[in-house]
Amino acid sequence: MASLKPVRGTHDLLGEDILRHRHVEQTAFAVASRYGYSEISTPVFEFTEVFARTLGDTSDIVTKEMYTFEDKGGERITLRPEGTAGVARAFISGGLAQKLPLKLFYRGPMFRYERPQKGRQRQFNQIGAELLGVAGPLADVEIISLGAQILDELGLSEHVVCELNSLGDAESRNAYRARLVEYLKDQPLSEDSRERLHRNPLRILDSKEERDRAIVADAPLMSDSLNDESRRFFDDLRNGLEIAGVKYTLNPRMVRGLDYYCHSAFEFTTTALGAQGTVLGGGRYDGLVKQMGGQATPGIGWAAGIERLAMLVDGGLEKKRPIVIIPIGAEAADTALEVTQRLRRGGFSVDLGFSGNMGKRMKRANAANACATVILGEDEIARQAATVRDMDSGEQAEVPLTALETHLDRFR
Ligand code: ATP
Ligand code: MG
Repeated sequence: MASLKPVRGTHDLLGEDILRHRHVEQTAFAVASRYGYSEISTPVFEFTEVFARTLGDTSDIVTKEMYTFEDKGGERITLRPEGTAGVARAFISGGLAQKLPLKLFYRGPMFRYERPQKGRQRQFNQIGAELLGVAGPLADVEIISLGAQILDELGLSEHVVCELNSLGDAESRNAYRARLVEYLKDQPLSEDSRERLHRNPLRILDSKEERDRAIVADAPLMSDSLNDESRRFFDDLRNGLEIAGVKYTLNPRMVRGLDYYCHSAFEFTTTALGAQGTVLGGGRYDGLVKQMGGQATPGIGWAAGIERLAMLVDGGLEKKRPIVIIPIGAEAADTALEVTQRLRRGGFSVDLGFSGNMGKRMKRANAANACATVILGEDEIARQAATVRDMDSGEQAEVPLTALETHLDRFR
């Protein structure tokens, strides 16, 4: 039945996959908390304008990728395609301007209607960080360091590089924009890019079309259009990253896909995932909050794709080995249940199978990688005891039921 398939580009997560996701999230939250970030969770849907007004009319997300619908009350609603716009909306509607600087961390599902492929789904998960209220480059240094340290603690620092660019302030961007249009206007651009030429030419640098890439390779560089102030900002950022011990490479052609960025733009990329090589991306968005109708507030942040990170990590798959309780015969059932619950309340990981004879249950205990089994036979129960077997050494001992906790302590 077709309707029982998952919707294209969505996945169920279980088993090893979800352990990897959990490992990525837990590592990220632990590091973010050490950096002084606290968690925020915003709704998975917002009024469509929250995204349409901020991400820019020409962004891929707004033009092609949003899941938008009208709800029963006639409201235009969009499933969030990214996290920053919702956080900025929460900042304004929650009156958080009194609490600056604000350091926020989030996780959750995002929705984009795009062509599903490896590392690209229609529902995917991100972790992300936002730092609001700090205008100077020290904020940029901190937020990039946070990303770098999370990737490092996931064991990925050998596999990723941090690419860095400056988009400059508004004046620098306008100057660059004019130079870029001058260069691009006579080039044989793709149709999409031609459309963007006057609306948002910087976006053309980000084009994935083969013919555009060749043209872009010879385009003038943003770095030659930075004014003094923007240049100083970038120098301070780079100096800060060196002091903080964060390695990076300059990529003068990197622009980020969204309209609201200025100054710093950065991406952590890998060659290990084929075409979907960006695992974490972000930048400074000083104009965003004002554009949404709040008080002008500087901000910077990033988001990382959990699916892409989960494909790269090794760790997080260790599952606690259970103690398996094996009752033999119907008379042992009640004692088995009682012992199981007692041990679980005492902090042990305990499995009690639902049925089966001794042989079947032993097989299942092996399959579950049990550290120990507690066998409850008729004779044992008559003596108020159990046979405890260490599954690694094979050693067996009869233990009084009242002494089980003490005897099993090393498996806790
Ligand atoms: P891409 O160039 O791969 O489309 P993007 O610029 O659209 O990325 P961002 O909006 O910056 O991506 O999102 C940050 C991160 O979220 C990306 O670097 C990536 O790891 C992840 N991501 C984005 N879109 C998807 C998706 N459709 N499926 C899985 N992960 C995604
Ligand atoms: Mg994209």
